[in-house]
Amino acid sequence: HGESGDTLLDGLNPQQREAVEYRGPALLIVAGAGSGKTRVLTHRIASLLANREAWPSQILAITFTNKAAAEMRERVEALVGESAQGMWISTFHSACVRILRREAENFGYNRNFTIYDAGDSKALLKRIIKELEADTFGFTPGSAAARISKLKNELSDVDSFARTADRSDPKEAMFLEIFRTYTRELARASAFDFDDLIGQTVYLFRAFPHIAALYQRRFRHILVDEYQDTNHAQYELIHALTQPIEPDEVAELEAKDYNLGKLVDATGRVPGASLTVVGDSDQSIYAFRGADIRNISEFERDFPGARVVLLEQNYRSSQNILSAANSVIANNFDRKDKKLWSAGGDGEKIIGYTGYSGHDEAQFVADEIEKLHSAGVPYNEIAVFYRTNSQTRALEEIFIRSALPYRIMGGTKFYERAEIKDAMAYLIAVANPADEMALRRVLNTPKRGIGPATEAQLAGYAEANGFTFRQAMRDAGSLGMGPKVTSAIVELARLLDEGATMIDPENPAGQSKVSDVLVHLLKGSALVESLRASRDPQNEARAENVEELVAVTKEFERNNPEGGLVEFLTEVSLVAAADEIDDASGTVSLMTLHTAKGLEYDAVFITGVEEELLPHRMSANEPGGPAEERRLFYVGITRARKRLYLSLAMTRAQFGDVAVALPSRYLQEIPAELIEWKQSPGFANSRGGTQSRALNARRASRQPDRGLSGAGGSFGAKPEIPASAWPNRVTAQVRDNGDLTLEPGDRIRHVDFGDGKVTAVTGEGSKRVAHVQFEKSGAKKLLIKIAPIEKL
Ligand code: ATP
Ligand code: MG
Repeated sequence: HGESGDTLLDGLNPQQREAVEYRGPALLIVAGAGSGKTRVLTHRIASLLANREAWPSQILAITFTNKAAAEMRERVEALVGESAQGMWISTFHSACVRILRREAENFGYNRNFTIYDAGDSKALLKRIIKELEADTFGFTPGSAAARISKLKNELSDVDSFARTADRSDPKEAMFLEIFRTYTRELARASAFDFDDLIGQTVYLFRAFPHIAALYQRRFRHILVDEYQDTNHAQYELIHALTQPIEPDEVAELEAKDYNLGKLVDATGRVPGASLTVVGDSDQSIYAFRGADIRNISEFERDFPGARVVLLEQNYRSSQNILSAANSVIANNFDRKDKKLWSAGGDGEKIIGYTGYSGHDEAQFVADEIEKLHSAGVPYNEIAVFYRTNSQTRALEEIFIRSALPYRIMGGTKFYERAEIKDAMAYLIAVANPADEMALRRVLNTPKRGIGPATEAQLAGYAEANGFTFRQAMRDAGSLGMGPKVTSAIVELARLLDEGATMIDPENPAGQSKVSDVLVHLLKGSALVESLRASRDPQNEARAENVEELVAVTKEFERNNPEGGLVEFLTEVSLVAAADEIDDASGTVSLMTLHTAKGLEYDAVFITGVEEELLPHRMSANEPGGPAEERRLFYVGITRARKRLYLSLAMTRAQFGDVAVALPSRYLQEIPAELIEWKQSPGFANSRGGTQSRALNARRASRQPDRGLSGAGGSFGAKPEIPASAWPNRVTAQVRDNGDLTLEPGDRIRHVDFGDGKVTAVTGEGSKRVAHVQFEKSGAKKLLIKIAPIEKL
């Protein structure tokens, strides 16, 4: 069964075939978006298996998300027609966790180590910064976390940093202290942060060559998707895994019963694994996390003898969408020009829309989605992208009102909710008794009358005696604290010890299921009960969330009959935003542009295509910032198969303020004939300086007033001002009604909404907002300063 080698190659073009069939030490596939890079990786794995050139266990494939990994596994299995058990297809982080859990004991960690996600790292840093009073030097948990992460991605640890740091600079000396304390606390808690997962695996391989050899021997084919977003540590990891095992080492390993057998070649060594990487430098969007494009540009130097295959045909998008993507990315200098083409025909034009506000923009998106849906596009083939999470609020409000089914990927994640973190902390404290942060979290949650003074007393006692915090809790009776507090602490320690017994592999009664452990802890701690007993109406929802977590553990047990508590905790730590995407769920997907990488949809909306958002204002000061933002926009555009919508708003509520927004500079990089503006940004020309953009747009297009929402409206205004005239001169041209005094009862005329009556005025100065009841358009709120209105 399964497809023969020929069928495996049928659906591929000649270049793709070449990439699938090439056999050699190293292969680099560089190609633009949608050219089948991921597909080639999948077919390459399938072909290795189908031809019996490799066992599943000899394959390691790295994807950017867990979801992409699951998909790749499914496709490979479908292609070869059998299950590919033993094949490692996973993210860098998951692969490293697997290695570290197996090997942790070799370097002083227990295999139940905790994984600190970004939030945990920051929480720990917050405490450290407070204890060191480092905030006086301007350190915040976020800034310290970012710097430490950057260092770790460069494989720099405290010692190497200390050697280069300028300690005469008090701020640097303080940072060193933060870094040192953070590192020590992680080790004490038997915890790894996200960056450690990679960095420590590299360290492990360097420090213990015979352990490295185990994996060098095992993985004969290593394949990496989205290689343009790998960082230095990940590069080193791949490098280590693909090293050959030299003859002297071979002899040593054979003596240890390593059985290298047929892997040893004529020269007496085990050749390094064959490496295939695919990537697109134009889609490198994680430089801020240390991703290094040089990993691609210097691949041929790093892996001599590498074959390079270029793919140019795009199978995803229509030509109009591709042309837009091509012309946008062409504005980045310092790149190899590559032209993507599609055989799929021009397709529809890109639709542009300028809303008066984020709400108006959201209404347009919702209305267009309904139209698409009525025309037969399923909801799960529609995605809405944005640059920052703050943009979701307006979208959500309108979507809820329009009863549109949607899901936000990676918004407030379930696992980031405080009550879920609380319940998880109980599980972590059971799995890893050294994890002090988890212990401190559960200490007074729910409230047991254990205050900060008691917590400090426990910590001090532990420190003074060289005990763990957990041991200090058990000993609380000898600390001379009040009887109530003492018994609360001792009881909590006992509850956690009971949990530990439940998962002890030596337990004669057998190990308990994760759900049973969780339920036991929830009962013993009364966490849910205390939420229910509280009068805060939010707490009912919180209690339900915790119960949902019990359901999650049960589902985990169904999917992983062999998995225990540690496996569950690992899985939870490694879920990423994109992993929440569920194609079958029949909902519109909302996500950031970063999360959209590698995905594709029939219809894509990119919202907030404005200066300050895209490019993001933070990027302005970063070297290469605007170029990276352009790549992000390119990633967004190239997700669309058939329909692409670009929208923006004239005013945007952001950073607690309502601000005038300007069209993104990237919009003018798209040839005007590719976009059909349903409502253009139509900036005034220099003579019409005081007119509002909207007003001017109306005049120029000589169209009757139309509804704003876009629902059923007949649009079709052309851009009045050539796109090349944006956006440099607009600031001065935005309408300014600054001195217009409005009061409840006043009648006004709005360029689009028509006549209406002011019902209230709120806010002050430039932020005054008029609440207006329009005769035809209903109630609206308008920012007086810039609204296209006149008093009647
Ligand atoms: P990205 O850069 O966005 O990650 P990619 O290069 O990985 O894109 P794929 O996702 O592999 O591209 O392919 C894009 C789409 O084109 C997919 O739907 C894929 O199935 C399809 N495709 C790729 N190659 C072919 C082909 N030879 N024939 C038909 N469809 C193809
Ligand atoms: Mg891909």
